[in-house]
Amino acid sequence: MINDKLTGLVLDEPLLWEKGSRGRIGISIPEAEVEKAKPDKDLVWEGPDFPELSEVDVVRHFTRLSTWNFGVDTGMYPLGSCTMKYNPKLNEKTASMEGFISSHPLLPDNLCQGTLKLMYELQELLCEITGLDAFTLQPAAGAQGELCGMLVFNAFHKKNGKRRKKIIIPDTAHGTNPASCALCGFEPVGLNSGADGILHPDAVREIMDEDTAGIMITNPNTLGLFEENIKEIAEIVHEKGGLVYCDGANMNAIMGAVSMREIGVDVIHLNLHKTFSTPHGGGGPGAGPVGVIKELEEFLPVPRVEKNGDKFILNSDFPLSIGKLHAFHGNYGVLIKAYTYILSMGKDLFDVSTKAVLNANYIKENLKDVFHLPYDRPCMHECVFTDENFEEYKVSTLDIAKRLLDFGFHPPTIYFPLVVHGAIMIEPTESESKEEIDRFIEVMKQIAREAKENPDILHNAPANAKVKRLDETLAARKPKLKG
Ligand SMILES: *Cc1c(COP(=O)(O)O)cnc(C)c1O
Repeated sequence: MINDKLTGLVLDEPLLWEKGSRGRIGISIPEAEVEKAKPDKDLVWEGPDFPELSEVDVVRHFTRLSTWNFGVDTGMYPLGSCTMKYNPKLNEKTASMEGFISSHPLLPDNLCQGTLKLMYELQELLCEITGLDAFTLQPAAGAQGELCGMLVFNAFHKKNGKRRKKIIIPDTAHGTNPASCALCGFEPVGLNSGADGILHPDAVREIMDEDTAGIMITNPNTLGLFEENIKEIAEIVHEKGGLVYCDGANMNAIMGAVSMREIGVDVIHLNLHKTFSTPHGGGGPGAGPVGVIKELEEFLPVPRVEKNGDKFILNSDFPLSIGKLHAFHGNYGVLIKAYTYILSMGKDLFDVSTKAVLNANYIKENLKDVFHLPYDRPCMHECVFTDENFEEYKVSTLDIAKRLLDFGFHPPTIYFPLVVHGAIMIEPTESESKEEIDRFIEVMKQIAREAKENPDILHNAPANAKVKRLDETLAARKPKLKG
């Protein structure tokens, strides 16, 4: 029977088990020139009932499935706190160069000078970008970078003769911060931000003591605001012998504009899979390099890449190191992509942040008359709205997010940060064009009109997607795998 739902895009793809037919095969090999051996009954294995398919069956199946996916190559993906920027294809090209993909991580130093050189130079570039003194490339993600930082905090206090128990975590920190500090055995101590959405030195002064190992500040914070008082806060923490950790996952807002050293940061992690354009989402590999000031370098994970004359070597001789955090040298492929991005951008890298901030402020200014803006002040790389204006129509943030799918946009981050009720957190990044951002703004305005005039459209959204509204709690446990 002819499927009258076919629109060109095939949205009803059966399982591989439901396709194909007995005896169909995806390879052709020549007839054997020798006589067929008689099968030994004991060696014949029936095996599971695998589907039998031709090559074209398989290729079409997976290609169709891939068109149901959404990614930065499909459309705008304004997921706040995630920096879903475009991933230049040049990065993929360099990461698949023969010399890199063929080099085994156990090669002796003298046979992999190029791969070591790339690591060394990437560390140097990250030092230049942040203003800190030394970097490790081992951590596989932002959260593992945080764990690395907390282990460094602990090693520092241990060396100074007194372990400390607590870490101050602001309510505008990323959720991984308290988790990383607890994982390392520290006790997270909450700190409230002010009515203006940023931290105030007096609040820190009140709780900072000599049993507190330091503070973890997300800067820009999860409201997309710059922590203007960070320098004074760092002085208060340092005075009591503590250290300052900056969660730098949002560095896309401040590259080249802020020297971490000057604002009193001792340890920072960066997310190469956000700021430095390597792919992420879908659980792919990331990289969360950690930078420190000179005084903390001896605690970084080993082995460390060093330059000795014109040779690059791996050195594990750091007795106070926190040890190894990742097999071999981290997610090396990701490092190549970030290195390529930095070199291909050159000095333009510092324009990235200006444009990312401009784009977010443009969206904020254009939507603030329609959507409730809890903190009306210049934002950094992202802006946070709420669903407050639509409460009387029983339209929630979730409805708005689902409706965006109908227009081909990935929804922004929702219900985060937790300090804002019904938050909608939009991060356009620098890589969207003005036309695309204008289209997003128009669609958001239309959704706001629909919320008032015909809220049912929103309650039933998405209407144009393959899978309609799911019970989110149930879907997390029992994913709906068939459309
Ligand atoms: C994304 C993010 C993290 C966590 O990074 P992962 O690589 O997902 O572990 C931490 N902090 C902030 C501010 C982030 O945006």
